[in-house]
Amino acid sequence: MKAKMTRKLGAHAVVIGSGIAGLCSAQVLCRYFEEVTLLERGAEPHDKQPRKEVPQSYHLHALLKGGEQALEQLFPGIVQAMMEDGSTGINGSKDLNWFHHGVWKKRFVGDIVVHLQSRPFLEHHIRLQAEKNSNLRIRCNMLALEPIYDEKKNMILGVQVTEADSSQSTSLYADLVIDASGYGSRFHPWFQTHQLQHPEEKVRIDLCYVSQIYQLDAADRDWSTLLVYPSAPVERNGGAVCRIEGNRHIFTLFGYDSELSHANLNDAESFIAFTKKLPDAMIYNELQGAAPLSAVKVHKVPYIVRHHYEKVRNLPQGFLFIGDAFCRFDPVFGQGMSVAAMEALALEECLVREWKDRARRKDTTGTGISARLTKRFYRRIAKVIDPVWKITIVEDFRFPHVVGKKPFGLSLLQWYTGRIFHRSSQNTDVYHAFIYVMNLLRPVRTLFSPSMLYRILRRGG
Ligand SMILES: Cc1cc2nc3c(=O)[nH]c(=O)nc-3n(C[C@H](O)[C@H](O)[C@H](O)COP(=O)(O)OP(=O)(O)OC[C@H]3O[C@@H](n4cnc5c(N)ncnc54)[C@H](O)[C@@H]3O)c2cc1C
Repeated sequence: MKAKMTRKLGAHAVVIGSGIAGLCSAQVLCRYFEEVTLLERGAEPHDKQPRKEVPQSYHLHALLKGGEQALEQLFPGIVQAMMEDGSTGINGSKDLNWFHHGVWKKRFVGDIVVHLQSRPFLEHHIRLQAEKNSNLRIRCNMLALEPIYDEKKNMILGVQVTEADSSQSTSLYADLVIDASGYGSRFHPWFQTHQLQHPEEKVRIDLCYVSQIYQLDAADRDWSTLLVYPSAPVERNGGAVCRIEGNRHIFTLFGYDSELSHANLNDAESFIAFTKKLPDAMIYNELQGAAPLSAVKVHKVPYIVRHHYEKVRNLPQGFLFIGDAFCRFDPVFGQGMSVAAMEALALEECLVREWKDRARRKDTTGTGISARLTKRFYRRIAKVIDPVWKITIVEDFRFPHVVGKKPFGLSLLQWYTGRIFHRSSQNTDVYHAFIYVMNLLRPVRTLFSPSMLYRILRRGG
């Protein structure tokens, strides 16, 4: 983010939740509000350790290139800082060894460098950067309860909060409240009880994640990330290995409505034994002689959900959902953090427009955030989310147990993407185009250009 002239829109903004979406939003808000308060229900994070309030932080978290670029825009210098602290830069098409729909991708030295690290490491660095804002106050052990609502004006005036272990609540007033409290946000039910219903799209996927960190032997490996993806509908379990800081590797197993959910993997022995069930033996082989460095952690994702606030007319002013609180993706595709960072950039665009609108009206009172901001923001982020959501559910619906609203033209899309996956094992142009889309660097439509159609649909290898 470039240092521009100050464009203050109000005295105080509140962000609920200090995950990736909360920290990125706070970074943006610090430039447009005199003071920003970031509320976190959990305790102060302990260095680069996973936080129990963010149970997914024990599992593999890939940062896509599009997300990395968005983070770099928000926090200039963050990638360099992470590299100096142990994050590894790898070639996204050469150092990723990917078994996908029964074939290995054709690896080649491409032009995308992605960085590998654990989720707590990444969050720690984002937080360090955000803390540089002198007008940001992070308040831990502080639970946001419900919005303070002026029904007549249809405006959110702040939020009720309570300190951990306290039965008293206090009012925290703000010009803008951003809910970045994750997929379990308590604010959707609040909206519903206040006649502010919104359409939501839920897809039941019954996904289970099981992860453990290992020290591998010093063998020379020609990959830094290994991904074994199941071929639906027959195979349901997959696995991934990713190098993280401290010369360690995180191993993650995932299963869609599979025996993994009931496997009770509670030690390294049972974890390793399960990897024999994966579509390829490579992960199992890597674990021979490996030393476990952490406990085995399990996380279940019964469903993914997208809230369509962009379709609601009477939303109150001064309150926005962002990150997983707005849309929770299938984590296997590694998009959530990247989209959260991109949404924060979209928030900045909307705040700039809000400021310009005010300047045009010569409004110097500087109070209240207009209803236009809410509409603009949801419309803008719906554009970010839409293609990402569609591309993942097209894949999820390959599993017969998955329940939800199917996208239009599903069978054709699955057939075409299946061709892309197979061609990516033979043709570097196709894999290159796919990897750009997968990293959120180019729109999905680039996979449907005439030259791509020719490469993907022509007969032969
Ligand atoms: C198993 C798994 C694996 C994943 N893998 C990837 C991956 O590879 N790549 C990727 O990009 N994404 C991945 N994701 C998604 C990613 O974790 C999220 O999209 C990302 O963290 C953005 O989340 P967030 O900041 O919106 O919410 P969270 O990270 O969930 O943060 C919410 C924060 O809000 C706080 N909070 C909640 N309620 C309150 C309240 N009432 N008051 C105050 N504080 C509150 C919580 O304590 C927490 O700190 C994965 C998710 C899962 C479940």
